[in-house]
Amino acid sequence: MPHASVVLASGSVHKLAEFQRVFDGSPIALVSPFDLGCQCEVDETGATFAANARLKAVAYARACRRWALADDSGLEIDALNGAPGVRSSRFAGPNATEDDRNTRVLELLLGVCEDRRTARYRCAVAIANPDGVVTYESEATVEGVIGDAPRGDGGFGYDPLFIVGPGDTTMAELPGVAKDVISPRGQGGRSGRAFLERVLLRGVA
Ligand code: IMP
Repeated sequence: MPHASVVLASGSVHKLAEFQRVFDGSPIALVSPFDLGCQCEVDETGATFAANARLKAVAYARACRRWALADDSGLEIDALNGAPGVRSSRFAGPNATEDDRNTRVLELLLGVCEDRRTARYRCAVAIANPDGVVTYESEATVEGVIGDAPRGDGGFGYDPLFIVGPGDTTMAELPGVAKDVISPRGQGGRSGRAFLERVLLRGVA
């Protein structure tokens, strides 16, 4: 039986599924803002992933009047000077689909050889208390290479393009729990969970 609940500061069903796997077995329930009727639109105006994660955590904590866990995440491709970066969700235009964004990445990398297709996923996590004060932050990355065609049905976003070593497997070809082990969201989710369990269950700041 959960002892406390924390709202996920995102309307993404993919993020919810990934974070809820990380919270599996915790006395803390991670709930969707839709279930609480307190979803909100947050302008991601920050210059960094960390700044955008803070904006989302604060906005949802205030709107839902409870602890909120946010992430901001994306792909940094070295041959594109770090793009799409913080613009990962808006890359290829405001109405672009995930497939459109992946196609755009492949177009931009056309002719770029494998050893110059290095990239990383980055994910910043921020947690705000019900007063809207950020009390926890972390950031994690995982290194990989951009493939030359999409492969796999798992995950979401850029996962079908993102090859994680040492083999030739894309993130989208991994089972969800295997993605969680290496993904920066998995890493940030586990440390965020540990923080929330310390504070909400044991009262340790
Ligand atoms: P945001 O964190 O909601 O701003 O989302 C950033 C964008 O990065 C998403 O729309 C996806 O395209 C991409 N993204 C975020 N996390 C992942 C992931 O775990 N795998 C693949 N793409 C991701």
